[in-house]
Amino acid sequence: MSNSYKLLIILLLTFTMLFGDGCEAKQVATVNYNSKLVVHYINVGQGDCSLIQIENKNILIDAGPNDAANSVVNYLNSAGVKGLDLIIATHPHEDHIGGMANVIRKFPVKIMYAPRKISYTEEFNDMVAALRSKKMKIHVAIVTGMEQVLLKGSDYELKILAPLHENYDEVNNYSVVCKLQYKNTSFLFTGDAESPVEDELLQKGSDIKADVLKVAHHGSRYSSTQEFINKVSPKIAVISCGKNNDYGHPAPDTLTRLREAEIKTYRTDVTGTVVILSDGQNVRRWQPEHVY
Ligand SMILES: [Zn+2]
Repeated sequence: MSNSYKLLIILLLTFTMLFGDGCEAKQVATVNYNSKLVVHYINVGQGDCSLIQIENKNILIDAGPNDAANSVVNYLNSAGVKGLDLIIATHPHEDHIGGMANVIRKFPVKIMYAPRKISYTEEFNDMVAALRSKKMKIHVAIVTGMEQVLLKGSDYELKILAPLHENYDEVNNYSVVCKLQYKNTSFLFTGDAESPVEDELLQKGSDIKADVLKVAHHGSRYSSTQEFINKVSPKIAVISCGKNNDYGHPAPDTLTRLREAEIKTYRTDVTGTVVILSDGQNVRRWQPEHVY
């Protein structure tokens, strides 16, 4: 190896040690939301990624697609996340678990839940490899009889409402549906669950009423039936989808149903990351001060 080559390698190594490999999170000043509960619907383009922060606990539901993997880690850093108490992978599609391996590798993670549904894809294998490297196992998310409580504090509780069995035709319908209750306010997370799951939840009489609804399947026409929206009866709906995505998400019918029910609806493709705060009695969208 020539001397100039050696020098180049040393310079590159020094550069990497000092500045990282370009994938490291930028340190951004942490926003003080002044709220005990903060729910971030992180803009990951076409995909899903939600972060719940409550009583010093950090919970991540999905981690966006592959191409958002670094921006998710950056966002978590900027939100002051030092570790994750709980991760939920709602179902093994790329737009939900593409960024998961990166998150698992970059943060200490206490526990992970996912449905018992595997996928023969690179991102699924990568997620499993990341879990193995940390000697972690996936806990199976399923509701058989009693609803499964994942995390509980003095005044909050996160529980799973679905999947209700393990014989769905569509991968989307294995989605973990979960509800966070904080005092008198509640948030429903639906993954990509479609109308057959919505019907099951309605028939079972599950406690789906919520103040804030993460609209299922990026607002697609296969979810959000009128009956389901009526029963959830949210004040705020959040749709996570990419700008000009190939799927036509959100569907015009879904938007019409939300508008006619007078539900305030935010879209990550229009407004970017959506942050909702709860004081235990009311929910409201957080906006930077300069917006007012
Ligand atoms: Zn999806």
